[in-house]
Amino acid sequence: MRSNGNGRGDDVVENRGGSTFTGVVWGEVLLPHADGTGVNRVTFSPGARTFWHRHTGGQMLLGVAGRGLVVTRDGSVAPISEGAVVHGEAGEEHWHGAVPSSFMTHLSTVLGGATEWLGEVSEADYAAALERLRELPDPSRRT
Ligand code: MN
Repeated sequence: MRSNGNGRGDDVVENRGGSTFTGVVWGEVLLPHADGTGVNRVTFSPGARTFWHRHTGGQMLLGVAGRGLVVTRDGSVAPISEGAVVHGEAGEEHWHGAVPSSFMTHLSTVLGGATEWLGEVSEADYAAALERLRELPDPSRRT
């Protein structure tokens, strides 16, 4: 058995800019991507998000804290917050990130294959996705 003993991943990697994220993002490898399958805990600062990308084997996101969104190329928007589960289909182009007013932490489980990174999410696309998020029914009002 191995334990990190303090609830944190062994290695916290900060990303600023580059070709995968916009804004400041912290990633922790919880299960290394051996055989293409792996688990990461990722924390996005407010307004931070991934570039457009696709996972050839698909992905499962589990919201841990804060508020964010997952957006696909067809314009679909799914909120992500504590307890939310969002599945991405194999090969589906998408991005995920935090809303401007909150951090967001999720667990990312990638289901085999590789991640292909595409272009940056523009400010206009980010703003449009936030608008669609605001138009969704508020799940906290469901009974
Ligand atoms: Mn993804």
